[in-house]
Amino acid sequence: MSLQQWRICAKVAFFLLFLFAPLLNIFRFDLDLGHFIIFGQAWTISIDSILYGGGDSVDAAIKIFTRVLLPGMIFVAIAAWLIWRYGRIYCGWLCPHFSVVEMINHLMLKQLNRVTLWEAASKKTRGVLPKVLVFVSALSMAFIWAVGLLSYLVNPVELLTSIGHLSVGFGSSIFIIAATTVFTCDFIFARHLFCKYGCALGLFQSLIWMANKTAMVVKFDRQRAKLCRDCIHYHKGKPCDQACPMRLPTRNMKRAKFTCTQCAQCISACATVQKDNPQGSLLRWASGNDAVEVDREAAKYKSDTIAIKEVN
Ligand code: SF4
Ligand code: SF4
Repeated sequence: MSLQQWRICAKVAFFLLFLFAPLLNIFRFDLDLGHFIIFGQAWTISIDSILYGGGDSVDAAIKIFTRVLLPGMIFVAIAAWLIWRYGRIYCGWLCPHFSVVEMINHLMLKQLNRVTLWEAASKKTRGVLPKVLVFVSALSMAFIWAVGLLSYLVNPVELLTSIGHLSVGFGSSIFIIAATTVFTCDFIFARHLFCKYGCALGLFQSLIWMANKTAMVVKFDRQRAKLCRDCIHYHKGKPCDQACPMRLPTRNMKRAKFTCTQCAQCISACATVQKDNPQGSLLRWASGNDAVEVDREAAKYKSDTIAIKEVN
């Protein structure tokens, strides 16, 4: 399987997990019971008896440490290590929001000849049907998201049954309507802009990744940069940049790709362009000292270009 096929499998599996985790009692918070349910088991700190005089403060501290702080610290440490080494790999390979970003990007490109509403269309769209199709898809996905999120808080079986019988309670209806409206706007207008500027989880990952100069990054082979000239001329643009769901300058330095999600779409796009070239894609993942070179080479290239322009 190709890299992108592996990534699609990972994204689909995680999206299904995101939707069905509450229904299968894998993970949810039951508002009525007032505690988490993890793999079918009630997950509580179990200090109620201590609060009512059944134990001492040491018992309470041990329970809070072993049931909350320790698992939390282990989770954060593992996540931070992965981000430090591989960047926003969660965003590109698992995040359900990024899956929607890519899905609607593809749909918009096909129906409206542009990846986002904020870019010019390559050609004019005829009729209203393509626009309606994009709107209905975004609205449907927003509704699925709204119901999916609500099922993390209320009994999912009861929620789905009430939706099936069109007898959803007042509070749940308000939540579903409000969340569907917000997500529809996000999916139509913002999408990758939310991933870039609105997501705290994404920003947190980007900051950790940027702090590690040797972390995995997409590197451009500047020695073979001449090949890009023919490619850009032939494709009337850069297939690598056009493939980037985050609309980043994929061949540029790391700091210009602060929000890179490691989706490798740029690498795959260039590999397709260079399929007959034995040396393959001009873009590839680099780590360690190889990764440190990314910014150095880009800065040198920039200063060389400025120097040549000044001489001329
Ligand atoms: S797709 Fe490859 S060859 Fe084409 S512009 Fe991008 S890096 Fe250069
Ligand atoms: S720069 Fe490449 S790897 Fe990063 S988000 Fe864009 S397409 Fe994905």
